[in-house]
Amino acid sequence: MIDNVLAFWRRITQVGPQAKRYRLDPFEPLAPQPDRELDVFLDRLPVQEDTLETHLALAELFRARGQTDRAIRVHESMLEADLERSIRNRVRVELAQDYFSAGFLGHVETVLEEMILGDGEVYSAQAFRLWLTVLEREKEWGRAIQLVRKYGEPGSGNIRLANLYSEYANQLSSEGKVKEAREALKEARSIASSARIYIVSAELETSLGRYHKAMQLLKQALVQDVRRVDVVLPALRRLSSLTGGEAGLRRYLEHLYDEHPSHRVLEALLDFVGDNDPKAERWQQELESIVNAGASFGLMQRWLEEREDIGEAARQVLIESLQRLKVRLSDIYQCNHCGFESTTMLWFCPQCERWETSYSRHEQRTFVRQAEALSSKASAAAVGRSDDKP
Ligand SMILES: [Zn+2]
Repeated sequence: MIDNVLAFWRRITQVGPQAKRYRLDPFEPLAPQPDRELDVFLDRLPVQEDTLETHLALAELFRARGQTDRAIRVHESMLEADLERSIRNRVRVELAQDYFSAGFLGHVETVLEEMILGDGEVYSAQAFRLWLTVLEREKEWGRAIQLVRKYGEPGSGNIRLANLYSEYANQLSSEGKVKEAREALKEARSIASSARIYIVSAELETSLGRYHKAMQLLKQALVQDVRRVDVVLPALRRLSSLTGGEAGLRRYLEHLYDEHPSHRVLEALLDFVGDNDPKAERWQQELESIVNAGASFGLMQRWLEEREDIGEAARQVLIESLQRLKVRLSDIYQCNHCGFESTTMLWFCPQCERWETSYSRHEQRTFVRQAEALSSKASAAAVGRSDDKP
């Protein structure tokens, strides 16, 4: 018997990967294309304690080679055997993973649900992660929140939970359930320090015409994470013109620029500069130094527009080429966990599947520079203190 098993093992490990043959309904038997070779193998090597690892390894190999239907067949045959509960659950999670690889998200849920409901407290971190990923892909935000609340470790993954609430609130508000959406956001704000919750909350209040409340929330978003100025400032500009609060916004931006001297804040601020503005000269100089450092296309364009020593035709050519360059280079967003790049802002990184890790590269760099400056100041101060000691 063992010779047959070995021969089969050798064949499947040597032959190149076969085309994927997913079954349309995984609960149907493997006909129309009976997999005799695999059936013979499973008949000859019954599932029992000393063959468990062989079966699991075989199924894992099938899955890695894209032969998901075969992996499913092996795992299903294991579940037909009389296994102890913890092993059964291990196999179930593997089967759920097969279904996930094959794209049968509904079946993943069925398998995991049976496992949780059937066995109560028996639960694995792998099953939890898999189920949560399925619910996220299916945009089942309410259920995803319940799952995390029930089985997630308290405190861990709070940013994820807060973002599930944000998505849920968006869904509720699009269904006209404003009160429920507000409650979800309030709950989310108590869970994690996330700029996005405040931005989503501000969007909800804006849609209800509560502009002052929305502005407060947007400012709160920057308290959570000042790197979100690229999302927050345009919204603040719109709201301040709707409410006639431009003077207040200018004061706020000045304060923000002192704390966080980023080109984006300066750009917004310069829109408020009028004739005889006492701050105009200082900002103009800063603008030129930023332009010299090549930090911002918006500022470079403004600078070009204001130069009187350039002829009009040359200016137009320069501005046009600047704009082409801008499309190519600027406003690249990058995930600070895995480095995934995109030209649009993404709250959820499709590569490492993390929430709120994608930032505008400009803001990220400014933030890193400022953090470095702060820490070198702090360490210089610490050195100074230790020097005082005798
Ligand atoms: Zn990422």
